[in-house]
Amino acid sequence: MTQTALMPIPGPIDPVPVARAITPRADGRVDLIGLTKPQIAALFAQAGLDAKQAKLRAKQVFHWLYHRGVAEFAAMTDIAKAMRPWLAERFVIGRPETIEAQLSSDGTRKWLLRTADGHDFEMVFIPDADRGTLCVSSQVGCTLNCTFCHTGTMRLVRNLTPGEIVGQVMLARDALGEWPKGAMDVADDPDVAEYTADGRLLTNIVMMGMGEPLYNFDNVRDALKLVMDCEGLGLSRRRITLSTSGVVPMMARAGEEIGVNLAVSLHATNKAVRDELVPLNKKYGIDELLAACAAYPGASNSRRITFEYVMLADKNDSDEDAHELVRLLKRHKLPAKVNLIPFNPWPGAAYECSSPERIRRFSAIVFDAGISAPVRTPRGRDIDAACGQLKTSAEKKSRAELDRLAAEQQAAPG
Ligand code: SF4
Repeated sequence: MTQTALMPIPGPIDPVPVARAITPRADGRVDLIGLTKPQIAALFAQAGLDAKQAKLRAKQVFHWLYHRGVAEFAAMTDIAKAMRPWLAERFVIGRPETIEAQLSSDGTRKWLLRTADGHDFEMVFIPDADRGTLCVSSQVGCTLNCTFCHTGTMRLVRNLTPGEIVGQVMLARDALGEWPKGAMDVADDPDVAEYTADGRLLTNIVMMGMGEPLYNFDNVRDALKLVMDCEGLGLSRRRITLSTSGVVPMMARAGEEIGVNLAVSLHATNKAVRDELVPLNKKYGIDELLAACAAYPGASNSRRITFEYVMLADKNDSDEDAHELVRLLKRHKLPAKVNLIPFNPWPGAAYECSSPERIRRFSAIVFDAGISAPVRTPRGRDIDAACGQLKTSAEKKSRAELDRLAAEQQAAPG
């Protein structure tokens, strides 16, 4: 069972349990996934190797784990045969457990995953003609209760560890058969260390699954560093986007310490509506949020900030809203693009999707003002994988189970 410890998180919530990054399993072996090269070397030294050996072995093992994706020490062919059982007795190479994998009619895939201590979360892969995007979760559940989002109706269970976050990317590469067979040709400059050139399926990552990534900052940063490490998974930071609902105090650090593209869940242009849709707005208002966007390190016309805007009928979709959106983005001189997301209804949702005509009109107003505002095509609707629909099947089942029990109780003779 994974141990947990309390970690303070900025924002209007209490500390939540977070699993420790280094967690011996019941049999005493330690999972190496999520650890850096120095952390692995330190564990090898603790296990009895001298410092030089520990460093050398850590370098080799790191390469096999993150660059080649092997799941067994026996496959690490440049490590002495006698050494491989020594490693297997003390360490494991973990992946989140796959409970269910679903394939949508449009090619979108959704995985229900489980942590070692039994918590369920989801991951989605969205293939397109020119790219394949993996939507990665950062927490089990979410505290922020955005009213249009199904995940927001789940309680927060805990933060995911670096291993559980990078493990999602590794699992996707396993499932898509995308680990390089030989040494991968990567450049020293992480920006050039593209993993994509040879027609791979998984080309981009968005931290837009379950949870608010900036409420799990350290673990998200550590996981993304492994993803971006050219000796690790080797994905360029230009192909990674972190989406926040607006945790203003953490945004500058995200730019400095992670340096990936930024997306912001804006969804409204005035306080009353944003307070309702994204309650975090009561703490960090629109102007404060846009000022933090303008100061985001690395934002430029070639690396624009994406503003997510869910289209809700008669709530935030008027011509005035579109004009106000343009005015706000221009006032803050933001290198911006807007992603218009047709609302994906879920059972019990209080909103309806704007009409296609309204969405077209809204998009046209923003485009006419010189800001790109494409309408995102909903993907994976038939498997509840579309934006804002993530909520673990386990929880859905338990709700269904509860309903059934309630119905049985009602039907029982008094
Ligand atoms: S939109 Fe994001 S931050 Fe808001 S409730 Fe959903 S998962 Fe949480």
